[in-house]
Amino acid sequence: MAEQLNNIVRGNKQPQNGATRYTVVNPADGKTILAEFASSSASDTADAVTAAREAFVAWKDTPVVKRCRILFHYKELLEQRSGQIAEMIVRENGKLLSEAEGELRRGIEVVEFAAGMPSLMKGDFIEDIAANVDGYIYREPLGVVAGACPFNFPVMIPLWMFPVAIACGNTFVLKPSEKCPLSAAYLVEIALEAGIPPGVLNVVHGGRETFEALIDNPDVRAISFVGSTPAAKNVWERAGVAGKRVQSLGGAKNYIIVMPDADPKETVKAIISSSFGCAGERCMASSIALFVGDAQRMLSDVAAAAKDLTLGNGLDQHSDMGPVISAEHKARVEHYIAIGEQEGARLLLDGRGQKAAGLPNGFFIGPTIFSNVAPSMRIAQEEIFGPVLCAMFAPNLDAALAIANGSAYGNGASIFTSSGGAARRFRSVIQCGMLGINTGVPAPMAFFSFGGHKNSFFGDLRAHGPDGVEFYTKKKTVIDRWPGSGGTGSIWGK
Ligand code: NAD
Repeated sequence: MAEQLNNIVRGNKQPQNGATRYTVVNPADGKTILAEFASSSASDTADAVTAAREAFVAWKDTPVVKRCRILFHYKELLEQRSGQIAEMIVRENGKLLSEAEGELRRGIEVVEFAAGMPSLMKGDFIEDIAANVDGYIYREPLGVVAGACPFNFPVMIPLWMFPVAIACGNTFVLKPSEKCPLSAAYLVEIALEAGIPPGVLNVVHGGRETFEALIDNPDVRAISFVGSTPAAKNVWERAGVAGKRVQSLGGAKNYIIVMPDADPKETVKAIISSSFGCAGERCMASSIALFVGDAQRMLSDVAAAAKDLTLGNGLDQHSDMGPVISAEHKARVEHYIAIGEQEGARLLLDGRGQKAAGLPNGFFIGPTIFSNVAPSMRIAQEEIFGPVLCAMFAPNLDAALAIANGSAYGNGASIFTSSGGAARRFRSVIQCGMLGINTGVPAPMAFFSFGGHKNSFFGDLRAHGPDGVEFYTKKKTVIDRWPGSGGTGSIWGK
């Protein structure tokens, strides 16, 4: 029976009153309805913001160590329920169980990071900047923060946002992806069970309109966003017009540059995992493999390994790749494969029409590889967000770097080589935010910050890590002067 999904406001479940209806279908079988729900109306959204604004007063004054003690308990509960959460992710998103477990682990690491907030939030002090005058800086929370998430990491991305925000003393309104809202809502239920007070963490369900209402609400002070580039740009512009602090992470087109001296076995394994892991629905997926010179010989091994991947339900341990998120998305990816053919790229492996055993209606596309892709082709320039790998060739490293830097995106890029010099040249010249050297998915861990360059990121401060703390706090600088009240001068040697 399909779950009726409700908003969570002041710690209570509340039905939404919006006009749009959403249905969440298990992408592996293409038919099981997991949840049905309505969007939030303008007054539902406003009510969640009011709840967060009211809760802020006491939460801001709750000592940071107490706030963090709740997060420690939250982490414990997440660990205890990890199996259940990972299965929920698989059911609504389609990825493999091992991928869901990995996603949750990366999210829990952000909770662990946020639980260290007493050290992270500390300010700075200098005595005697003038006679009897001291100066110091300390951090305060901003107030109500709103965040919206994409479908592809339904647990990790909410956990990038609210643990850091609330550890800093903010209150939060989360809008999960309307395509994968179940596991995100469950995360919030567990947080309330861990002791997060009512109103500190709220959930509103819906799509674009719901999040735009949050952006426009004057009581919301800052906006965290992760999604496709057109949406990220809209969020950044709209929040900017409203004068709000905003971090807005967008789409990607990531390159793996393969040098002739790269370890062939490791490189092929990394390309397969990066390009086809999570069915290519990762913002850090390598969608282009750029072979330099003789490295081209490795392409046939990539194609052979990709051909061997078994499609299936993510809960089945024999599956190597799950479905994409929806029938619409499957059609979109297949459309891009047709565009690649029209553009004259060579289709080495065609995943269209492939099905998983026993799942005839699942939203599956097999691994797809194009060779001889030119940088000007749409399949090279646009984000496809599915299991489609484009292979390109370049005569030398600088030619490869020039091609990669021609991309409008700048999320991640990797190089595979055994040359320190090539790795160093790559690191210094490539225009991307997150770089891998002999690693295919260079996603930063919780204590670093996550975010790209160019059309992959809009804003200044990235997700989690030190930027996250900076983003969710504002500073006060105090000049303290107490003339004559406590005496002056040193008592050393008296
Ligand atoms: P999406 O942009 O369709 O939706 C993301 C969120 O934005 C959802 O909550 C949705 O309701 C909301 N939304 C949609 N259109 C909007 C608009 N115009 N204005 C405001 N909000 C809007 O993305 P998706 O399909 O759910 O997720 C996949 C995309 O997310 C890919 O482009 C992927 O690269 C990107 N992504 C980026 C990162 C990153 O770190 N840069 C991480 C994960 C996913």
